[in-house]
Amino acid sequence: QPTALSGLPAGVGEALEAEGVADLYPPQEAAVEAGVLDGESLVAAVPTASGKTLIAELAMLSAIERGGKALYIVPLRALASEKKTEFERWEDHGVTVGVSTGNYDSDGDWLASRDVIVATSEKVDSLIRNGAPWIDDLTCVVSDEVHLVDDASRGPTLEVTLAKLRKVNPGLQTVALSATVGNADAIAGWLDAELVESDWRPIDLRVGVHFGNAIDFDDGSQREVPVDRGEDQTARLVADALDTEEDGQGGSSLVFVNSRRNAESSARKLADVTGPRLTTDERDRLRELAEEVRGVSDTDTSEDLADAVEQGSAFHHAGLAAEHRSLIEDAFRDRLIKCVSATPTLAAGVNTPARRVIVRDWRRYDGEFGGMKPLDVLEIHQMCGRAGRPGLDPYGEAVLLANDADTKEELFDRYVWAAAEPVRSKLAAEPALRTHVLATVASGFASTRGGLLEFLDNTLYAAQTDDAGRLAAVTDSVLEYLAVNGFLERDREGGTESLSATGIGHTVSRLYLDPMSAAEMIDGLRDACATEDAAGATAGAYERSAPEDGIEEPGFGTYSRVDDDSDGGEEETVADDEDTAADDSPPDVTPLGLYHLVSRTPDMYELYLKSGDRETYTEICYERETEFLGDVPSEYEDVRFEDWLAALKTARLLEDWADEVDEDRIAERYGVGPGDIRGKVDTAEWLLRAAETLAADVEGVDGDAVLAVRRARKRVEYGVREQLLDLAGVRNVGRKRARRLYEAGVETRADLRETDKAVVLGALRGRERTAERILEHAGREDPSMDGIDADRSASAAAT
Ligand code: ADP
Repeated sequence: QPTALSGLPAGVGEALEAEGVADLYPPQEAAVEAGVLDGESLVAAVPTASGKTLIAELAMLSAIERGGKALYIVPLRALASEKKTEFERWEDHGVTVGVSTGNYDSDGDWLASRDVIVATSEKVDSLIRNGAPWIDDLTCVVSDEVHLVDDASRGPTLEVTLAKLRKVNPGLQTVALSATVGNADAIAGWLDAELVESDWRPIDLRVGVHFGNAIDFDDGSQREVPVDRGEDQTARLVADALDTEEDGQGGSSLVFVNSRRNAESSARKLADVTGPRLTTDERDRLRELAEEVRGVSDTDTSEDLADAVEQGSAFHHAGLAAEHRSLIEDAFRDRLIKCVSATPTLAAGVNTPARRVIVRDWRRYDGEFGGMKPLDVLEIHQMCGRAGRPGLDPYGEAVLLANDADTKEELFDRYVWAAAEPVRSKLAAEPALRTHVLATVASGFASTRGGLLEFLDNTLYAAQTDDAGRLAAVTDSVLEYLAVNGFLERDREGGTESLSATGIGHTVSRLYLDPMSAAEMIDGLRDACATEDAAGATAGAYERSAPEDGIEEPGFGTYSRVDDDSDGGEEETVADDEDTAADDSPPDVTPLGLYHLVSRTPDMYELYLKSGDRETYTEICYERETEFLGDVPSEYEDVRFEDWLAALKTARLLEDWADEVDEDRIAERYGVGPGDIRGKVDTAEWLLRAAETLAADVEGVDGDAVLAVRRARKRVEYGVREQLLDLAGVRNVGRKRARRLYEAGVETRADLRETDKAVVLGALRGRERTAERILEHAGREDPSMDGIDADRSASAAAT
């Protein structure tokens, strides 16, 4: 051991041994032989749970021991904190760890002092655009799940980011971790890296298909699981795993289905299987867990999830709130929850192994395809790879379901025996290049057309394509678009074409906006101001730095969308808005108009139109036509009109939220989960903030419009009507408490400082700790609630 693992910080070898790493796994050994401890670049294409993370850790720790700095790129934000926690165990050995989540446009200076930084590829991209100084200091970069370069929406960012990092730091050690894919050698070629490829697993995995009375496994074995008449195949398999004790424990199951709705209904059904098999102790602990789940949010989803959890079953999908997800993941790892029904997002990354994986659905609805489409082999393999928990289960089993003999054969051919597809770059598409070409020029990676093409030559796309002309052609059309919209200047002189970003182009790049979103928002805002001028409204009455409105510019350089805890505005007195708005002309720019504007940009993921929605939203579209910024497309322009309506549906959701409609009502009305509402709200807040910055940079947008944007943003941020803006800005208050305080006569932040404490406590339903914290955040001298009687005040308020 000590000879193999030289060059690590003192004590690391011993710590690993203490963790149970007595010997390296074969792929890890191969990585060490390939030089991962000596700064060699490496692609490790090995199955899930075969110790890829340790390969990355060895690379990073040895780099740090040599005085370097490491970056670990994760594919999902949810994974960033999981990895950070994992790496923090090295802090005992003098290694510091930082995670960079939060908004795209903060520059993350503080990370300069960390040895290991964990971030998503989007975040890294943004940090590069904003000139984070420590980027130059990196000596080792790890790209987790690098096969996701194949993903059309996010792959190009990872690809370009790796190319940029390698360009800034020649000699950078690049360690790419990949699932077993068809062409790991191509990835290694692109990254000039050694390749370690293996299908070794620490624990046996059997993959099979259930049909009739048995599962047939790939190793030729068979397990009898009779399907009783009328009983569901999945339920049967979950019961079978639970009833098979190993080391005195039944086995847990992970069921993959193709939609959120199916995940929820499956969890409900499987609760009938898990419930009766619980011990009294488990039942008690699950009841407590269910209460925690209910406490996360006041929604049907929360309620449904809690009901299932009480019975030892759960669902997991992207519509859940983050707190829900981690409660479920932890309880499943602790073997308290016996069965999780999940959409495939769970298969990517999050570490939740089960003894048995059941792939119930292998097809999913695909709009572009126009029907049910089989999943990729890689995706199915990733799901199967979740089976078997090293140290806990003696083996893992992954089972696909067939209901006839032909399907059974098909599943064996299509998935069990098949190799995963090769990974293909998706970079040469206009939406991807639009963003990345602008950013590449704006952050100085290229200043001529030739230089740009040379930079793009370092991408996987260039390494894979035979058609060098295609990338150039798409690049040219994107350059044209960026120039026409005023983001880039092109200058032809002699044989070279020089490129430079305009002021607004720089802003767009730093704000991390798709240039098309920026163009749409600028047009919309100009349109609003043009109408306003025509109507004779006073333009320019508001000055950006005017102290009257008292709102401090947060400044984009430091604002952080997630880390901001909304109490940054201690001095804000947005209540003054009421006075400013008390002007008798009706507002020209309404929140709905602005919410629609940001909802129709490519940076907002619009809600789907369901059957019947077309009529509903067409009607709303005509009723509120005057509020839209920009021209409503004609009903005959089918696709554009449909898109407009989808944006309108999204905008209406945001408007409901800002009108204090209950989360539950919203979820029901739009057919979404609480996590989706959060997602839309966060995106709208970010885009409106960006719109405000853009407005200040372009000609033809006046101060009233800027103020309207700011108010619409604050309302969506807090989810409140105008009159609550001041109160809801106090930390720990939130939309519901703000409303209750207001009803009790506490209408402003200043009121919080002066009103009788008993009234405050009554409005907060007697929660003393909460009341104290709120009063403290509102700046009250003595926030203590000692001896305050809420009951008395509540009844006093009632009379
Ligand atoms: P991957 O990243 O490939 O999906 P992980 O790195 O999460 O897999 O490894 C799965 C588990 O195996 C982890 O719990 C890890 O601690 C453990 N592990 C990794 N390497 C070894 C080893 N050499 N010996 C024992 N356990 C190991």
